[in-house]
Amino acid sequence: MTVIVLGMGVSGIASANLSLLFKNRTIGIDKKPISLLSNEVKKLCERGMEFYKEEDSFEVLKEGDLVVISPGISKENEVVKRAEEEGKKIISEIEFAFNFSKGKIIAITGSNGKSTTTSLINSIIKKKFDDVRVGGNIGTSFSEIVLNSDEKTLFVLEISSFQLERIERFKPSTAILLNLTPDHQDRYKTREDYYKAKMRIFENQDENDFSIVNLDDNKMVKNLEKIKSRKFYFSQKRHNFDGAFVEEGKVYLQFKKEGIIEIVDTKELKIKGPHNLENVMASSIAGFLNGVEKEKIREALIEFETLPHRLEFVAEINGAQFYNDSKATNVDSVKKALQSFERNIVLLLGGRDKGADFSSLIDEVLKRCSKVVGFGESRGKVREVFEGKIKYEEFETLEEATLFLKERAKRGEIILLSPACASFDEFQNFEDRGEKFKKWILEGKNDRG
Ligand code: ADP
Repeated sequence: MTVIVLGMGVSGIASANLSLLFKNRTIGIDKKPISLLSNEVKKLCERGMEFYKEEDSFEVLKEGDLVVISPGISKENEVVKRAEEEGKKIISEIEFAFNFSKGKIIAITGSNGKSTTTSLINSIIKKKFDDVRVGGNIGTSFSEIVLNSDEKTLFVLEISSFQLERIERFKPSTAILLNLTPDHQDRYKTREDYYKAKMRIFENQDENDFSIVNLDDNKMVKNLEKIKSRKFYFSQKRHNFDGAFVEEGKVYLQFKKEGIIEIVDTKELKIKGPHNLENVMASSIAGFLNGVEKEKIREALIEFETLPHRLEFVAEINGAQFYNDSKATNVDSVKKALQSFERNIVLLLGGRDKGADFSSLIDEVLKRCSKVVGFGESRGKVREVFEGKIKYEEFETLEEATLFLKERAKRGEIILLSPACASFDEFQNFEDRGEKFKKWILEGKNDRG
């Protein structure tokens, strides 16, 4: 078989490696020349992979039996379009890796909370099982961890909508959809297209599988009848179903057979905010359904620390607290960050625009913020929405904004970077943005107390 791998990043390299191991003719394609790609690509070529730059690949594309595409590649990509015209079978990297998997899969998707929930579930499942492998959109691709698995292996996979767009047989035994809120409006024509891609996580499940969904999310509730697996729910408002709920600050599981089971008092958790309660509920259900005892679930939840760049506390300067929520690249995650504090928030918004509607933040901003600070490429759009409605300041770069706020930090302020935008105008990625934000805050901190 001839396998074409489109995109030679981390997941493309891993799929090409799998393909070569199984003795397929393997062709790698990327828009960059090989000299600008990772050394791993050269190593693959030494093992027999052929490499083409995108514009030189149209002829060889015709020889492919299967095209595996990396999550970063859009439908509009010229090679993808041509492969479609030629009637080639095009699949995503998770679908490709799935063919080599012998283990059970717990898959997590949603607009926000995927990484946090994937990590939470990993911590819970590891309390009971030995061969637990975490990957997908989080760090290591599925293709890298899939080999040498057996029926005892448990994969905990974070899955993006881009990966789900091109699945055929991918079938998690437990599938979780955390929420559906607008995101990636730059890549999807309509919101419905994006929601539909996310719902595909349930597509190949049957009545022996489990689905876990957010009952407080109306967009999801509308689509539930399509799910064929056993449904479990979580909600912060209701508790008349099998799944998880919160009452008076405690998280409970509830199943027809087992009744109500207290899991954890939220005061004991290190992760904060109503959104994290959703992640905790979904993770507890997944743990329980996969056989982890309630005490072990509780232990894992209590031990769990916030992941970096997700509402991460950085420092207190002059009585003001600085938080790094660089991962918040859409308005819903910003809304959740705002809801995690009472008031006096100074909100840093800006970066590369992803087509977000900042005006949907107005109510929450007016209720909880004392000031909005716009920065980066999209600052004009931030200004249009907030200037005149609340105290507003603007800087060209995040560095200038941060240093300015640090200089004038006042007791009681919550200075929150929760930008609602991508980072690529000024930074490599959201991690780079978060790390630099922390560095600027912490530099010389001790001098000022
Ligand atoms: P993802 O992997 O889906 O991007 P993360 O766990 O990395 O999710 O969190 C991304 C951002 O969303 C962070 O700002 C975080 O504080 C926020 N967030 C986390 N969980 C949720 C949730 N359940 N609902 C809304 N926002 C969330």
